[in-house]
Amino acid sequence: MHKNTRLVNAGAKEALQSIKTINPPLHRASTVLFDSYEDMLKANRGEFSGINYGTSGLAAQKAFEAAMVELEGAHGCKALQSGISAIAMVLMAFTRQGDHILICDNVYGPTRHFCTGFLTKYGVKTDFLPSSAGADIAGFIQENTRLIFMESPGSNTFEIQDVPAIAEVCRDKGIVSVMDNTWATPLYFNPFEHGVDVSIQSATKYITGHSDILLGTVSTNEKCWDAFKQCCGLFEAFAAQEDCYQALRGLRTLAVRLKHHEQAALDVAGWLEGHEMVESVIHPAFESHPEHELWKRDFKGSSGLFGFTLKEGFEDIDHAPFVDSLELFGLGYSWGGYKSLITGGKFRRSNHFGYEGKTIFRLNIGMEDVEDLKKDLAQGLERLKN
Ligand SMILES: *Cc1c(COP(=O)(O)O)cnc(C)c1O
Repeated sequence: MHKNTRLVNAGAKEALQSIKTINPPLHRASTVLFDSYEDMLKANRGEFSGINYGTSGLAAQKAFEAAMVELEGAHGCKALQSGISAIAMVLMAFTRQGDHILICDNVYGPTRHFCTGFLTKYGVKTDFLPSSAGADIAGFIQENTRLIFMESPGSNTFEIQDVPAIAEVCRDKGIVSVMDNTWATPLYFNPFEHGVDVSIQSATKYITGHSDILLGTVSTNEKCWDAFKQCCGLFEAFAAQEDCYQALRGLRTLAVRLKHHEQAALDVAGWLEGHEMVESVIHPAFESHPEHELWKRDFKGSSGLFGFTLKEGFEDIDHAPFVDSLELFGLGYSWGGYKSLITGGKFRRSNHFGYEGKTIFRLNIGMEDVEDLKKDLAQGLERLKN
């Protein structure tokens, strides 16, 4: 064999060895080799059940998806390149021209924008449900309503929907029910146990947990799996192997991390509730939350993301001295990672919370010591006094 041929083939046999690590191997592949010509001919006819290309999902992706199926009690799961691409794929998989869909008013902004900016182009019309919707949604449903999308609690304003009641209405009327369950993760809320058809996670948040990966998952029940799988197949949608590997690794420690986020957030939220300048803390696990009873009924825990508003006098002023002085809270989007973060803004939502037009600060409580976090917030709030 000539040198150039050797260069191409050297080490190839060793590369195919399977070594039994407890974590999945990281394949880097477009091409996946068939064992026989017969298998290739099957693949040509669409009858091959194995992995035949990099887009089919390689070992780390398959392992992560299998873990999500088990965790959620789903029929199937697909990992996609980000939370929003997971959401977009679901909305495309279950709608067609002429359909009507209902989206809860408190959804993640880009979800809303995908509906109003993209689906409209293909003749799918979106209306919005109140953020605290429940069984009383009959009046919103039309003849051609195909899908209802929930996000509970909303990740900016924390309204909670009566998910089982909405899912039941959907089941009766043959509507696909979808839930963005990122806040609670499958550990603290299981969409399938509450009758939902499709469960979405932005694995970017708690599952990967370190603010360094973008990844999403879609899990469905048996009824919805084929339609969803087919749509993913047409897009040849897949996720990066390194990201799936990290997500699987994230699952191994999710329970302990989430417990810490929960306890630390409850601690900081409780302290804020007693602060002289704070008007209300918006935390589903607090009795003061307008839908606290629903949270208590349906959820197994709370995560590390909540909001608060300031009292009159501190409400409609320049908040920059507070936010910019914070040393431990990063000023940035996303959440679920080890570092505490803050965002702020005004939200207009159809709910009965009574803070429309007010600034809501949202805290992601990370892994720092809670006393240091409180001290940081205290010194920051103090700066609004002058
Ligand atoms: C962040 C987020 C998303 C989008 O996830 P990305 O991975 O950032 O695209 C979707 N839904 C909720 C509730 C989120 O917080």
